[in-house]
Amino acid sequence: MLNIRIEKTTCPKAKPTDETALGFGKIFTDHMAIIDWNMEKGWYDARIVPFENFSMHPAATCLHYGSEIFEGLKAYRRADGGIQLFRPDCNARRMMESAERLCLPELPEEDFMQILKAFVEVEAEWTPHSPGTSLYLRPFMYGNDDTLGVHAVHNARFAIIASPVGSYYKEGINPVGIMIEDQDVRAVRGGTGYAKCGGNYAASNRAGERAAQKGYSQVLWLDGVHRKYIEEVGAMNVMFKINGEIVTPELSGSILPGVTRRSCIEVLKSKGYNVSERLLSIDELAEALENGTLEEAWGCGTAAVVSPIGKLAYKDKEYIVSGGKIGEVTQMLYDTLTGIQWSKIEDTFGWIVPVC
Ligand SMILES: *Cc1c(COP(=O)(O)O)cnc(C)c1O
Repeated sequence: MLNIRIEKTTCPKAKPTDETALGFGKIFTDHMAIIDWNMEKGWYDARIVPFENFSMHPAATCLHYGSEIFEGLKAYRRADGGIQLFRPDCNARRMMESAERLCLPELPEEDFMQILKAFVEVEAEWTPHSPGTSLYLRPFMYGNDDTLGVHAVHNARFAIIASPVGSYYKEGINPVGIMIEDQDVRAVRGGTGYAKCGGNYAASNRAGERAAQKGYSQVLWLDGVHRKYIEEVGAMNVMFKINGEIVTPELSGSILPGVTRRSCIEVLKSKGYNVSERLLSIDELAEALENGTLEEAWGCGTAAVVSPIGKLAYKDKEYIVSGGKIGEVTQMLYDTLTGIQWSKIEDTFGWIVPVC
């Protein structure tokens, strides 16, 4: 058990009054949670303190060598006013896997859960009430040595910040246009693709910007070795319905193991769908686009839950998917997952962790 010191702010900020204008990650709550780590001492000084800027040494490891990992999950307000989390244990474990990959210290799952729940309770009033809104939680960790030597860090900091976020789909669920990226790659097997680390995002931005310039919202990543197998879409996992079969790329090491991906698979299987985690080549997808057997395509991740793909561009050709509308399975997944997250439907999977 962590001994968490709680120091409340003496000057709380005004909460946003217009919950339709929250956006994503622009407003932060009054506090932050911190646990420091040192190679000799281990984890120490767990605390929830007023939100403020960090002070760091200009040689801090994260600034030079990219030793940084993060998580993303949400706290949801129920109709009865209480607050709950969706599968936070999955985030705790994934953060340990990310830490292991980047030689950062592993925060035990029970400590992650304890400080996360304590923090959400302190910030309870910051969880918005309007439909579709939530309190986005961002646990992260970075290497904090004050020397330029290159090695596994001797000092690190784990922290959680929180931001009330608006409904992802204010104007209804609009299918997005996706460009298949054939130049840059996001990750390779043996690299850091399965870890949720900032460096993966830094490497993805160029392709994302190029897609945006051409009027597409995201890129579809191909594998870095054969430039042939589909991996992810932007910073989401991706699923397809081809001729009745639900196909999603298998977790090969270069793909982020999404909590939403896993939840979609479990919901689909529970409803009797035929789900395959396997290699899916761009040629197979192109053929399905050509002969009309690609029935639906969607991205999945915590922020959007599911994001239907209405348009796919590959090699100067543009294909329309599902008539440019949200497909039946995509809609079912959205309704089921959001229904469980806000307790509008029964959680038969045991995924909900109430906080208060
Ligand atoms: C976070 C993330 C996802 C989605 O994971 P969830 O746990 O479902 O939010 C997918 N791909 C990448 C690259 C990510 O960083």
